[in-house]
Amino acid sequence: MNEAESREASDSVPETLVPGSGTAPPVTISHPITGETVTMTKSAAKKLTRRVMRDQKREATKHERRARERARRKERKRQTKEQIKNDPAAAALTRVPKPKPEPFDARVVVDLGFDDLMTPDEATSLAAQLGYLYGVNRSSSHPFREVIFTGAGRLSGQALGFEPPPSGAFSYPQASTSETSLFQDRVGLHMEGKSRGMWRRWQRIRLMEYGGLESLWDPTATSNSEPCAKDDVIYLTADTDDTIESLEPGKTYVIGGIVDRNRYKHLCAKKAEALGLRMARLPIDPSFLDGQHMQARKVLTVNQVFAILTGWTETRDWTEALKRGLPARKFTTNTDEPEVAEANEDHV
Ligand code: SAH
Repeated sequence: MNEAESREASDSVPETLVPGSGTAPPVTISHPITGETVTMTKSAAKKLTRRVMRDQKREATKHERRARERARRKERKRQTKEQIKNDPAAAALTRVPKPKPEPFDARVVVDLGFDDLMTPDEATSLAAQLGYLYGVNRSSSHPFREVIFTGAGRLSGQALGFEPPPSGAFSYPQASTSETSLFQDRVGLHMEGKSRGMWRRWQRIRLMEYGGLESLWDPTATSNSEPCAKDDVIYLTADTDDTIESLEPGKTYVIGGIVDRNRYKHLCAKKAEALGLRMARLPIDPSFLDGQHMQARKVLTVNQVFAILTGWTETRDWTEALKRGLPARKFTTNTDEPEVAEANEDHV
């Protein structure tokens, strides 16, 4: 039976209906990327399988596509050159080459130590955000010198006293010891699968496989070639009164790598406190925003925070940075309403 036939056959299996409910019972499958056993509706399982097959097909033709794109670019370049040779005035109409990026000498860390608190969907969403974040840094005129992804350390979400979500909680393979590899937890497995291991070679991205956030300042950590002073590490969180005035060269700014739809209040502040790290929030100040209102302690998503930080390195202006990092609708909300959950619900 070929692939299409087998798919057709499985599609035609009659769904067993729960009497009276009108819906098919959930199915338990092994997640095609992470290998975890997950329970979902039959249609969600089908959708997932279809998505994975589509991604695999795209991946298989990637090299061919890239070669075609390269050839097309080369041909276009040749044509432009020819045109300029025949008509020098046409040079004024061609694109000015992008100036070389000027890295900003600070580091950003995404603390991927909260896998145990996310549902599979949230982990997928976070993995997509990491891809976006890499793209933002890569195409920035003033990228961060280095972006580091750290994995599970001693202080997992559960070790900090937070309950995992009722469905789909993830357990670290080695019960959250410092031996848990970044490549083995859920977000890591997604990144491995999505990028076919290429994220290990992404420009300006460093993966610290073992030891979690703590290994940043631990000179004995195996994956740490460049330990930093703990005093130079600042955990970004909405839950503090200390506001960043400017980003400083030489400092390391940590973003909590979690998508939780605001289930876990003060999660990252608690972790920073437990580790004895400085905390700071972004300067979301209504006066910065031309009279448009937003709560000062608004909780944003990982990629919004990163886009704002990069907006600052590019413009040195927080108002501009906030405008670049946040969708326009976020500026026009009513200040009387507590306004924390919305942004953290965004997917990529
Ligand atoms: N429930 C989590 C929220 C995670 S949001 C918590 O309460 O900690 C993801 C991350 O984005 C946060 O960990 C934090 O590092 C960063 N972040 C979100 N909003 C922020 C803000 N207003 N200022 C600074 N950092 C922020």
